[in-house]
Amino acid sequence: MAKLSLENVRHSFSGGTALKTVHAVGPIGFVLEKGEFVAIVGPSGCGKSTVLRLAAGLLDLDEGTIRFAGERIDGPSPRRGMVFQQPALFPWLDVAGNVAFGSRFRSLGVGARRDLTAELIAAVGLEGFEDFYPNALSGGMQQRAALARALAGGPELLLLDEPFGALDQQTRAQMQAWLAGIIGDRGITALLVTHDIEEAVFLADRVLVMSGRPGRLRASFRIDLSTDRRERVRTSPEFVAHKAEILAELEQ
Ligand code: ADP
Repeated sequence: MAKLSLENVRHSFSGGTALKTVHAVGPIGFVLEKGEFVAIVGPSGCGKSTVLRLAAGLLDLDEGTIRFAGERIDGPSPRRGMVFQQPALFPWLDVAGNVAFGSRFRSLGVGARRDLTAELIAAVGLEGFEDFYPNALSGGMQQRAALARALAGGPELLLLDEPFGALDQQTRAQMQAWLAGIIGDRGITALLVTHDIEEAVFLADRVLVMSGRPGRLRASFRIDLSTDRRERVRTSPEFVAHKAEILAELEQ
């Protein structure tokens, strides 16, 4: 069974002083199988973030259906963890507090919650920073804490909205390799929005290209590189060829 499916989904926003309606996205439909990593690319403003927010249950659909593990979604759930471009950590909580917050809906005893928090902090490489507050962390460290917080909810699906967009090139590459490991090890299904084609090819099993607003699905590319993403070599001819075909589709 598909982990996530979107069918004929449409969304419009109304806003501005004249309450103009902006048809942001759709109709659009696609499916994510369990354990699949799918990236969405497309021109700025084409509705990529809107698709993620709809899948997170943060926005209501105008039309269509979104199913998660076979059931219609009707609001946010920790089973669908979301990570934004800005880490959005609580500034009044330290790293351990932020990560522990992510597991608040799980029925865990105090000891189990503490163990899970410690395990995730170690998994994201923040051991020793448990009592640091967000403003004392670098951007990459904040983003890792935000990911640990999302993972603490025990998500089956991670929705990633340009999570490394605010980081410098070198940190971004490190974070991509690190994310590849974490997601692969845990068998999590992931949907990533990015404007970085290289990031999409490095991380995804499939890359979806959206058209300009209202965003619709324009093309889908299967990335047939190593399934252990940490082994993907950005300079290999196959990698470069995937980047080129996706870029050509975007530029059409
Ligand atoms: P992308 O992620 O592809 O850059 P978005 O999903 O953020 O695009 O936005 C798609 C369109 O919807 C844009 O034209 C944007 O201005 C509009 N939009 C997004 N969020 C809102 C909102 N909260 N209110 C009104 N319009 C919005």
